[in-house]
Amino acid sequence: MNILILGSGGREHALAWAVKQNPKTDRLIVAPGNAGIAALADCADIDILDGAAVVAFCAENAVDFVIIGPEAPLAAGVADATRAAGLLTFGPSAAAARLEASKAFTKELCDACGAPTAAYARFTDAAAARAYVQAQGAPIVVKADGLAAGKGVIVAMTVESALAAIDDMFGGEFGAAGAEVVIEEFMTGEEASFFVLTDGVNALPVGTAQDHKRVGAGDTGPNTGGMGAYSPAPVLTCSLQQQAMEQIVLPSIREMARRGTPYQGVLYAGLMIENGQCRLVEYNARFGDPETQVLMMRLGAQALDLLLACAEGRLDTARVNWADDHAMTVVMAAQGYPGPYAKGSVIGGLDGLPETSSQMVFHAGTAARDGQIVANGGRVLNATARGATLAEAQARAYALVDAIDWPQGFCRRDIGWRAL
Ligand code: ATP
Repeated sequence: MNILILGSGGREHALAWAVKQNPKTDRLIVAPGNAGIAALADCADIDILDGAAVVAFCAENAVDFVIIGPEAPLAAGVADATRAAGLLTFGPSAAAARLEASKAFTKELCDACGAPTAAYARFTDAAAARAYVQAQGAPIVVKADGLAAGKGVIVAMTVESALAAIDDMFGGEFGAAGAEVVIEEFMTGEEASFFVLTDGVNALPVGTAQDHKRVGAGDTGPNTGGMGAYSPAPVLTCSLQQQAMEQIVLPSIREMARRGTPYQGVLYAGLMIENGQCRLVEYNARFGDPETQVLMMRLGAQALDLLLACAEGRLDTARVNWADDHAMTVVMAAQGYPGPYAKGSVIGGLDGLPETSSQMVFHAGTAARDGQIVANGGRVLNATARGATLAEAQARAYALVDAIDWPQGFCRRDIGWRAL
């Protein structure tokens, strides 16, 4: 079959890499793609936020299956457009993607279905929000309701910083995303990510992961899109996964279906674990980046069969064949990231690197220029490896890092420290 993947990051390179290994794949196209993806798929320059443009492209190119990577096209209704055109689609409708696109919506859904999460209140004006924070005290968490690329959440350790966050949000710092503000109880514990495919009725867990959001060693410094990840997450034991399914994921899926907006795609639950209990921090309506890199490395070619079963509504018959393995990805970023950074530096050493089912450098912000690969973003490469143990996966991932010649880049040297 002909498959179109939308997106251009390390997540999409990993998805393309897994999909390409499956014999069902004839032509693979990624839009817009990146320099690494171009080595294994055709890259197409289309506006992935424009549902009509995506549908027209699929018709011209005899695409059979569309896989939507990032959240922006989901929130823009691209899955609605492709499904309406009769295209098999992996990714939720805009109405279902509200589980990521509106934090207030998700909190209200948790109330409706009894899923454990932090206590909260919602506000549309600053004075009431300020009064609430003053009454509650700190630490407290202030969130812009809408999509803000991971920057709309302020974990405030003091009342003053919470009040400043409220003023920023209602002052327009996040545009329409901050028109409503959710204020939450501060939760303590260990965070982990739980990935579940659902066709709207059936649900199938497809792995756990933990990522490192902070830029600096020991999880210090400013937040980033993620500096590395590993799977499985040891903290999410089988019994905690079962608890998360029964108390959080399945009730949410049933409630979405009951409302006439069934959720089809991957439901990525960010969980907080403490004292043997999981609570929901957030939902994402797509695979995580960089978590997808480790999930795809563990799933390999069967990933396409699972995504197809999800899109075709037959997840009740699907199974994951798990190897008893571990995977790790280390993000290499441009110096300065997550602050200002330069583009265009040449990355050497990529040519001779292994590209196997257990070691792969996935590209994120890269471009090809005059026959060379150059940095073209903040997060640039994902050195990813599998091993029988997490320590082995780590050693093999850092062996890839060490073979790359890119003085203008950096990475954290302690990915996985918590689990190791
Ligand atoms: P991202 O895009 O990075 O996933 P987001 O904007 O969707 O972020 P959340 O995941 O809701 O926002 O929050 C970001 C981070 O803030 C969480 O991973 C967690 O570390 C912290 N956080 C969020 N809510 C709480 C809470 N109630 N208590 C403690 N920490 C929290």
